Amino acid sequence: MFSKILIANRGEIAVRVIKTCRRMGIATVVVYSEADADSLAVEMADEAVLIGPPPAAQSYLLGEKIIAVARDTRAQAIHPGFGFLSENAGFARLCAASDVVFIGPNPHAIDAMGDKIQSKKFAAAANVTVVPGHVGEIEDTAHAVTISEQIGYPVMIKASAGGGGKGIRVAWNRQDVEEGFSAVRAEAKGAFGDDRIFIEKFIENPRHIEIQVLGDKHGHTVHLFERECSIQRRNQKVIEEAPSPLLDEATRAAMGVQAIALARAVDYDSAGTVEFVVGQDKSFYFLEMNTRLQVEHPVTELITGIDLVEQMIRSAAGEVMAFGQADLKISGWAMESRIYAEDPYRKFLPSIGRLVRFAPPAEGQHDGGVVRNDTGVREGDEISMFYDPMIAKLSTWAPTRAGAISLMARALEDFHIEGLGHNIPFLSAVMDQDRFRSGMLSTNYIKDEFPSGFAGLEATPEQVDVVTAVALAMHRIITARARHIGAGLQSPDRKDWVVVVGQTRRAARLSVVGGDLAIELTDEARTLNLTAIDWRPGASLFRARLDDRAFTVSVSPADEGFVIRLRAAVLKVMVLTPVSADLHARLPAKTPPDTSRLVVSPMPGLVITADVAQGEDVKEGQVLFVIEAMKMQNILRAERDGILKVVSVKAGDSVAADDILAEFG
Ligand code: ADP
Ligand code: ADP
Ligand code: MG
Repeated sequence: MFSKILIANRGEIAVRVIKTCRRMGIATVVVYSEADADSLAVEMADEAVLIGPPPAAQSYLLGEKIIAVARDTRAQAIHPGFGFLSENAGFARLCAASDVVFIGPNPHAIDAMGDKIQSKKFAAAANVTVVPGHVGEIEDTAHAVTISEQIGYPVMIKASAGGGGKGIRVAWNRQDVEEGFSAVRAEAKGAFGDDRIFIEKFIENPRHIEIQVLGDKHGHTVHLFERECSIQRRNQKVIEEAPSPLLDEATRAAMGVQAIALARAVDYDSAGTVEFVVGQDKSFYFLEMNTRLQVEHPVTELITGIDLVEQMIRSAAGEVMAFGQADLKISGWAMESRIYAEDPYRKFLPSIGRLVRFAPPAEGQHDGGVVRNDTGVREGDEISMFYDPMIAKLSTWAPTRAGAISLMARALEDFHIEGLGHNIPFLSAVMDQDRFRSGMLSTNYIKDEFPSGFAGLEATPEQVDVVTAVALAMHRIITARARHIGAGLQSPDRKDWVVVVGQTRRAARLSVVGGDLAIELTDEARTLNLTAIDWRPGASLFRARLDDRAFTVSVSPADEGFVIRLRAAVLKVMVLTPVSADLHARLPAKTPPDTSRLVVSPMPGLVITADVAQGEDVKEGQVLFVIEAMKMQNILRAERDGILKVVSVKAGDSVAADDILAEFG
């Protein structure tokens, strides 16, 4: 076994690999870029070596330099994590030539599977069901049209070298192909330096289900069942689970047989993933094979008890796999939520910045289940524009799917992030949706359920109760404290209150027993019991139990009250005396300021182009600005005709979210 391993990656996956190495008694070296000098991975590794400036091409992608570091530090092997050099056969060969072991599959397997056109050929030869389509390169637009018409619309135009959901476009008709072909080709050239394109049938309303495989260098291959990753935006995964709620034993076994057949066809000798699109009728078609550790591997580890990083290391060291297929079993259910620095309220656009607060839930056993959090950041760290915007992968395990979902919903309540936009309210919304709980998933899920974008969920009656109780408790704590320091106007001992939650008014009578509150809702003849209250003025999380159910909400002060977020519901609440509640009800409603004349930046970033001038007469749909962050460009078009009275930015300016870019006259 190796005594020292170099990790050629950063962030959560570097930390993840270090954890397993520590457990196995293997020393670790990480390489890092200037942007990561203070990172958790650098802090945790036994040794850390700076390799260059932030851009990956000048640091994490410098194969030769990284191998030189391995030799200098006497590391015998390199774990590439995912992304970066993990699927680079040239790098794997260079490792071998330099007497450093590459912890991943043999370069021949990476070559065969790294390319989608070629991997489909291998798959077809190994009797794997592939998506119907043209297994070859498309020459030009005319060729693309001919092939698409042979396959039958809808079709998917795809970059052979694609990954991360990029270089993919659906075409519903001839015009889409004519417009889409060159666009995908240009995107592929830009993103992967390879403009080979192929076309396959677009399977409508499918699910994404993938099989984890594992091989050693002695001809043993097993599969570790499936993961379902159908909850996607921009063809990228956000929520994954294992097993899949769709599969029955027979389908699972059939998919496993095909995945193993494909792995054997390329002498696969490490951890890898065979991805399938699956119809709601359980028909399945091979998509691609990822010859690396997969981002969502924790859910497989949670249901099988196998540490995939350990298995990769053992296989790379030449060990014989210590178990066979018959030893593997699915135990319980696991969920993973990818917590991203992105704003779900703004079409999931990236949001960069500093983690002013970062407090994940405690890992370990909870209520008969398990919480696991894979992250590479700490409070105070920055999510920079140079790398992937993933902040953490929160996973839960429970004996049943319903249990894993409930535990995830609770764990998300207890995940506290401030300083940048994040998708926790969105993830909570999905966990609370009946459709998700019923297991009726599809890759269209987000589009189906949030057709006009994510705007939170309506609060349920139970959630309105929680918010009512929380507001009363906070109000009491604040007035008691104000009274204590001599500034209080209201008596904390007052019993009768009116709580205004959104548009509804609820009369409440308070009694205090010890530190607990009994809240009688006088109009409804019910009493809410709030116990185990954990909050002090200024804190942004409020924890307690309502009628003995534990919950956590985020709170912030707002004029005349509080804004409270419980999972995906955000509510404005006021606690008033009956007299002021009457007065309040008679006040005219405030009209929000008119912002329709403003063009605001939907995300922080850099202004790439500002092709408009002050005083210009613009037409609806005309491109006004292009803003870029995290390699993603956002094109802002005029939402109406009109004259631009003010243009406040120019190309090269940095802008924050909500900054005003221009104003119509
Ligand atoms: P997967 O296919 O493992 O589920 P994705 O499809 O989300 O992962 O990722 C697509 C590509 O982006 C892969 O090459 C993956 O290795 C890379 N990638 C994803 N997340 C990260 C990350 N946090 N750091 C580095 N690379 C990443
Ligand atoms: P990447 O390398 O970017 O992961 P994939 O080929 O795995 O590319 O496709 C990414 C996602 O796009 C899939 O998870 C699936 O949701 C969708 N997709 C890909 N091919 C098809 C297809 N032929 N029909 C329907 N959906 C597809
Ligand atoms: Mg894929």
